[in-house]
Amino acid sequence: MQIYADNAATTRPSRAALAAMLPLLEEGYGNPSSLYTIGQKAKEALEDARAQVAAAIGAQPGEITFTSGGSEADTQALFTGAALGARKGKKHIISTKFEHHAVLHALEALEKQGYAVTLLDVPENGVVPVEAVAAALRPDTALVSVMYANNEIGTIQPIAAIGALCREKGVLFHTDAVQAVGHLPIDVKAQNIDMLSMSGHKFHGPKGVGALYCRRGILPQNVFYGGAQERGRRPGTENVPAIAGMAAALTEAVATMPETSPRIAALRDRLIRGILAIPHSVLNGDARQRLPGNANFCFEGIEGESLLLLLDQKGISASSGSACTSGSLDPSHVLLAIGRPHEVAHGSLRLTIGEDIGEKEIETIIESVTEVVAYLRGMSPVWRDLQEGKRSYVIQ
Ligand SMILES: *Cc1c(COP(=O)(O)O)cnc(C)c1O
Repeated sequence: MQIYADNAATTRPSRAALAAMLPLLEEGYGNPSSLYTIGQKAKEALEDARAQVAAAIGAQPGEITFTSGGSEADTQALFTGAALGARKGKKHIISTKFEHHAVLHALEALEKQGYAVTLLDVPENGVVPVEAVAAALRPDTALVSVMYANNEIGTIQPIAAIGALCREKGVLFHTDAVQAVGHLPIDVKAQNIDMLSMSGHKFHGPKGVGALYCRRGILPQNVFYGGAQERGRRPGTENVPAIAGMAAALTEAVATMPETSPRIAALRDRLIRGILAIPHSVLNGDARQRLPGNANFCFEGIEGESLLLLLDQKGISASSGSACTSGSLDPSHVLLAIGRPHEVAHGSLRLTIGEDIGEKEIETIIESVTEVVAYLRGMSPVWRDLQEGKRSYVIQ
């Protein structure tokens, strides 16, 4: 049995997404900038998608710019906020230590251009308090960027409170909502969000497509050069099939959320209880303030990579915090940010479940993880030292 438990990495495109995309790939391939019929049909599909995406987050269609994904939307939001601040002589930006690299690396680039960046510490529960943002504000603060929900540990941030604070202080507020859109209810107006990033493939849409919401009055700055598509805000021929697929997936995700969200959260809680029965294991991130599908653990005396490979042999796709994809063995910056020591951060496991998983699969995951952890500990010299009292446990 194959069990896909890595929905934070990417999701399976939904039937609704595929149904929206296929006709646009086969017949409706016109360029939306062309004036003849199939071009104008593509333009209609594009504007239809824009209205759907806007409605899903409580925005107006004119406030949505389509991008190539979450990374581009994050980059564009940060450069936009930075440029608008600089015009008023404000060059300070506040963010957090556990943002996605799309945000952290864009901020590094802005630092090189002379901006001052404050990265807030993250408490052990993985929820950045609004008071920490308030304490970091300076007279020259232009922009605050705090992710809606963390992609590794799934913790949800107090977005409405941060939004209200920023609005009151006249500071722009961006949120990387890539993990939240389609999974949590979002209302950009009620939550005082000025800019928001999303990505199609994190909510059962296709890859390589995303969107940036910028509140009316905030003109997105181009991050690359080309034609006048997206009303001059983002050059390049629009990927209409992917955009339509993303919009269809999002509309469905929002419509079904009241039913799916509590069901997935209950399965997640069962998963967490089952895995925490393993001795010397710990849940990363607050147990309640977390995404419905996210469970993330550290195990003492385990290497995350070997854990993943053995789970894969049992047909379970999961993820570890270590940045193994980058070829480095550095532990996750997120787990370090919440204070997990290096040796423990290496033994992490992220399970992110989706709509296709039921109780049977949850029991299989619990059994398999329990078996694999015991097997790996049986071969581990670190674990032997811990058992013999030659080392002390970090996780009790
Ligand atoms: C996946 C992800 C991104 C990047 O989105 P892409 O569409 O893959 O570029 C950014 N931020 C968060 C929190 C993510 O989970």
